[in-house]
Amino acid sequence: MAFFVQKYGGTSVGSTERIKNVARRAAKFRAAGHDLVIVVSAMSGETNRLISLAKEIQPDPDPRELDVILSTGEQVSIALLAMALHGLGIKAKSYTGSQVSITTDNAHTKARILKIDEDRIRADLAAGYVIIVAGFQGRDEAGNITTLGRGGSDTTAVALAAALGADECQIYTDVNGIYTTDPRVVPEARRLETITFEEMLEMASLGSKVLQIRSVEFAGKYKVKLRVLSSFEEDGEGTLITFEENQNMEQPIISGIAFNRDESKITIVGVPDHPGIAYQILGPVADANIDVDMIIQNVGHDGTTDFSFTVNRNEYANTMKILEEQILPHIGAREVIGGNRIAKVSVIGVGMRSHAGIASKMFRVLAEEGINIQMIATSEIKVSVVVDEKYMELAVRVLHKAFELDQAK
Ligand code: ADP
Ligand code: ASP
Ligand code: MG
Repeated sequence: MAFFVQKYGGTSVGSTERIKNVARRAAKFRAAGHDLVIVVSAMSGETNRLISLAKEIQPDPDPRELDVILSTGEQVSIALLAMALHGLGIKAKSYTGSQVSITTDNAHTKARILKIDEDRIRADLAAGYVIIVAGFQGRDEAGNITTLGRGGSDTTAVALAAALGADECQIYTDVNGIYTTDPRVVPEARRLETITFEEMLEMASLGSKVLQIRSVEFAGKYKVKLRVLSSFEEDGEGTLITFEENQNMEQPIISGIAFNRDESKITIVGVPDHPGIAYQILGPVADANIDVDMIIQNVGHDGTTDFSFTVNRNEYANTMKILEEQILPHIGAREVIGGNRIAKVSVIGVGMRSHAGIASKMFRVLAEEGINIQMIATSEIKVSVVVDEKYMELAVRVLHKAFELDQAK
């Protein structure tokens, strides 16, 4: 007998029929004697629908009120799943995030979980219930409803698994594991049996939305055994996120390719080149809580330099406003060029550590396709490039082939 926290994503609970399927799967686990806490997302499309509704009233809705509306999507799913379990004769109770005291900070629409009071869940589990918890939501210390950012149900699940000491956290979704890249973009992508925690962290942070990055961070911090599986297949091992690199197997150099369209690039041309300029530009941006991703500053010749950086696309307008109001009047730059039509493509693998030349191979493959690289960033286990958005899918496909990710290892 084991204790699992299972999470079912939007597509997996996208209709009442699918919710009944989830209930049948849960019933099997119960019949085998396992304890279950189930986290569910809103039915597919619902969170987007709620956002559009809010925007019809107010183009830039108040974040507190947006969270009130966004949290309702998950509340519908938990009750439907509880009913479906009741229909199978299984004791089940649903709870909102707030009801099981998932306490977060007060950063509405991107709140972080601070603590979970697990007593109520433990008592219900001991009384033989399947517990169903609404994903993606909590409440701040003042009792306001908060949400955890898109994809946040993954984080609810992993946080509950950590707090309750589950044997495994199982993320059920519409693909049967983590692939070498998004199988919807590259049909030749292969499922990985395992992926290291470090690689998964990079994949998630570089754009693979299969797991929310914070869920991976939580799993790392609390050593939660995390597995991604299909909710549509009867069996299958999915992909296990491992904490050790497998020393026995020959490690592939590249494990996967991630890509991200949610980027935008801003270049400040002709900035006077003197100490402190990077801080003068990026300080106010950081103060506004905007994450800056890649940064490039080249060496100036005529006493000026060009300074480029990328931010998330939905922070673009805000960043430009900060530049115009708070930064440009003080630094005497020649002009600012902004671009939304860029994308980031990254190759990732712990095997890269022991191999030189991955970056140059990547650049050669892209050059052969005539794809211009606008920015580059590297770390021990990844190389990322920024390219024109229209070449993104081509770049992913040619790199996937060049690094032989389509071939069974
Ligand atoms: P859910 O609604 O279950 O949370 P998501 O849409 O958030 O599902 O995540 C699953 C999707 O992630 C898949 O349908 C797939 O298109 C996408 N994805 C992106 N990168 C990968 C990858 N490397 N492996 C598997 N799926 C990926
Ligand atoms: N329903 C939320 C979203 O669509 C959270 C989730 O599905 O994980 O982002
Ligand atoms: Mg998701």
